Amino acid sequence: MAYSQPSVDLSPQVSDEIRKTTCYMCACRCGINVHMKEGKVAYIEGNRDHPVNRGVLCAKGSAGIMQVNAPSRLRAPLKRVGPRGSGEFEEISWDEALELAVSWLKPIRDDAPEKLAFFTGRDQSQSFTSFWAQGFGTPNYAAHGGFCSVNMAAAGIYTMGGAFWEFGQPDWDRSKLFMIFGVAEDHDSNPIKIGLGKLKKRGAKVIGVNPIRSGYNAIADEWVGITPGTDGLFILALVHCLMKAGQIDLDYLSRFTNAPVLINGDPKSPEFGLLLRDGDGKMLVMDRATAKPMAFDAPGVKPDLAGSLRKAGITHRPVFQHMAERYLSDEYAPEAVADRVGISAERIRHIAGELARVAFDEAFEIDQPWTDFRGERHEKMVGRPVSFHSMRGISAHSNGFQTCRALHVLQIILGSVEVPGGFRFKPPYPKPVEAHPKPHSKVTPGAPLDGPHLGFVHGPEDLVLKPDGSPARIDKAFTWENPMSSHGLMHMVISNAHAGDPYKIDTLFMYMANMSWNSSMNTGGVMEMLTDTDENGDYVIPHIIYSDAYSSEMVAYADLIFPDTTYLERHDCISLLDRPICEADAAADAIRWPVVEPDRDVRGFQSVLCDLGARLGLPNFINEDGSQKWADYGHYIVNHERKPGIGPLAGFRGPEGDKVGRGEVNPDQMNRYIENGGFFVEHIPEEASFYKPWNKAYQDWAVKMGIYDSPQPYLFNLYVEPMRKFQLAAEGHGDRQPPEHLRERIRATMDPLPIWYPPLEDGFADPEEYPIHALTQRPMAMYHSWGTQNAWLRQLHGRNPLYLPTKIWEEKGFSDGDWAEVTSMHGQITVPVALMAALNENTVWTWNAIGKRKGAWALDEGAPEATRGFLLNHLIHELLPARGDGMRWANSDPITGQAAWFDLRVKIEKVPAPVDAAAQPAFPPIKSPVGQGPGKLAWKVGK
Ligand code: SF4
Repeated sequence: MAYSQPSVDLSPQVSDEIRKTTCYMCACRCGINVHMKEGKVAYIEGNRDHPVNRGVLCAKGSAGIMQVNAPSRLRAPLKRVGPRGSGEFEEISWDEALELAVSWLKPIRDDAPEKLAFFTGRDQSQSFTSFWAQGFGTPNYAAHGGFCSVNMAAAGIYTMGGAFWEFGQPDWDRSKLFMIFGVAEDHDSNPIKIGLGKLKKRGAKVIGVNPIRSGYNAIADEWVGITPGTDGLFILALVHCLMKAGQIDLDYLSRFTNAPVLINGDPKSPEFGLLLRDGDGKMLVMDRATAKPMAFDAPGVKPDLAGSLRKAGITHRPVFQHMAERYLSDEYAPEAVADRVGISAERIRHIAGELARVAFDEAFEIDQPWTDFRGERHEKMVGRPVSFHSMRGISAHSNGFQTCRALHVLQIILGSVEVPGGFRFKPPYPKPVEAHPKPHSKVTPGAPLDGPHLGFVHGPEDLVLKPDGSPARIDKAFTWENPMSSHGLMHMVISNAHAGDPYKIDTLFMYMANMSWNSSMNTGGVMEMLTDTDENGDYVIPHIIYSDAYSSEMVAYADLIFPDTTYLERHDCISLLDRPICEADAAADAIRWPVVEPDRDVRGFQSVLCDLGARLGLPNFINEDGSQKWADYGHYIVNHERKPGIGPLAGFRGPEGDKVGRGEVNPDQMNRYIENGGFFVEHIPEEASFYKPWNKAYQDWAVKMGIYDSPQPYLFNLYVEPMRKFQLAAEGHGDRQPPEHLRERIRATMDPLPIWYPPLEDGFADPEEYPIHALTQRPMAMYHSWGTQNAWLRQLHGRNPLYLPTKIWEEKGFSDGDWAEVTSMHGQITVPVALMAALNENTVWTWNAIGKRKGAWALDEGAPEATRGFLLNHLIHELLPARGDGMRWANSDPITGQAAWFDLRVKIEKVPAPVDAAAQPAFPPIKSPVGQGPGKLAWKVGK
């Protein structure tokens, strides 16, 4: 019998044209093919040629189409007409908007540039925005790293010249054991998923350490539901076990780390605890062959991990001996830490044993000769197939810097960094900490700042203090309160500006940072600070300029709005000077370009800065005749040279477009990128693929690419000497002295070898009263708060219950549909709950940034995000409670200033559902300058 088959067109033509650009629905920067039909975006798919995603597209990426068509998009420049916070604006022209900004900014640039505080959020143009702020002359610039993961970045760079995140990756093709700590699913999304797929295919084991078993942890072979804030203790217990069993890579430690470097052992010396150096400033090691001290990089030197130097009756021991003394101590024995970390001693020993077994028993070799920086030729590369990855979960604690350092020490003693099978850097990393700039803060009215704002301090002499010792920056970065705050402290800006501590500012200028809602601690308090007036009735923060693409909660708190474009309507560069898209085997960068023209009166924020910079006469933004130097951001990307021959993009340089890394400006560069699919890749030679910090071939390649000006080989810093310099100051040495009230804290926390101390909030919140840890994480589907108003994505997470573990659920008698009152030292919320068994038994958590304020984001006031959605931010304060002396410390890591989001402790009670079943606190609706979106979003592209 013959059946008639329906005729189905399985591959309909979905577009007239494909435009290739870079996704920005999260930080991964995947390549995308944007299918266009009659000038409109019809469909988005992954670009199969792109080095980041190889065609893979996630739910966020495909939902970009709804982002570009979101009803909440701002439409024109706005000037506030109602009271601040009301959301009442009038639309004005760009010229009016820019002149208004100039009328505020020009006088302060001429008189006191520090009265501008310019901070940006999750943007990816920080080398450009900092360039603008430098030209303006204010010291008050940073991006959002201080409230995100500066601990991870700073600990990585101080310890090993590179960090996790997009700065490195596991050797996905060779690793056999992969351990992740505190990784939220929104970050590094597609690359990690592709990598996990490779590991699983090869049968490699994945261990997930996280109080919450969701996302990557849900597919881990082994889940370790650790108690929040104790990761450092767990890691140091692993270090203890490995050292005790002798399961460490002694050869690697002696060749490539400062383990053999001698430490000054003279307690009477002002250099006690610093590294011994020769007359040329080179670190000294004991040479195994001659038993004499020699420079660490002398040709033929065989650094001795056990060799001490006895001189003038004093014994100077190497770093390794100090490590052995500390980590072999019973303090770090599994039995001593098990209760606190919530992992049995037996399990800690088992994990340590597995790390050792895979690193050493499954070691392998690659037949690839290479030459190290001492000139020694090696015939093979030795693989240690154990790799790690980590993110904000271990970073956003007040002990996060030391915890991140501890994790790097664990990687290093296993010899598993920059070797086959281990963790690998991506260009422009590795880069020694000394190759990074130091922070600059010298303000000269009417002139640029004396150098880059952010950087890495090497001792008290680099702190950013005024001559009277007071903080030079509004966020108090690089002060005795948080000396190594390499990314600034964005979470303290509004609070300090409102308090006039350390000084008052005139204009707060922010980009893409939802500071009156999900990006601030103490959200209600921040709203009050932003609207507070002085005795004259003037706002305490006189002017607020804000740029965003969408009608976010922060819009209502600004006086002037620069409406930004969406990511498909703009130029961008994903640059080697900033946060590139490199692979461990290749340098790569990429662009965005306007694949659609905006249908509103909006401009890319960076292009607005080009215009504003020229109107203000910033020297790096005008030509000699005073005319505007950069027509727009695209013009800047192609024509700007950071140094001769080095610009934002590394590919297609030189007049012919055939130069890579270094080369003259190529006016056709943007077009060449577009023709190439929006990206550029340059592979690293095979001989240079591993051992990059010490590999002569890599160092030479990096110089050729313009990553370094000269080879920069260096040792990994198991012992971070700059930290000891701060301790010495706290002990009374040197001219620059900390204030008395911080002396003990500096001495205790800035240990040059990783330590663990309890999160600072534990010292205030009585554990009997607040026994529960409370966490948030961004969902895999939503990297930005933008995602929660995306018509497709909000179907995945339209509301966010507070997830409770079985123990608390049963103890308190909760059932489905119940509500809980959650109380911290700072505040109280009432929220819906849900049961989650795969959770640390003393921890509750929820998705971050789902809850919206009524009136914002063009959502219906009855939308679930605005009624049942909620924020934990109301429970967290930017300051810890007053101490006995009346002082209040920032709720931050005392070393880096990283916001300690995850130190939060709470108590929970079951309560009846609030009236209207609305999460509390509920704030009055704000007026949206774009009104409310339609109830139904539907359109047809093409005929
Ligand atoms: S992982 Fe991120 S960059 Fe890649 S497609 Fe998804 S949202 Fe876009």
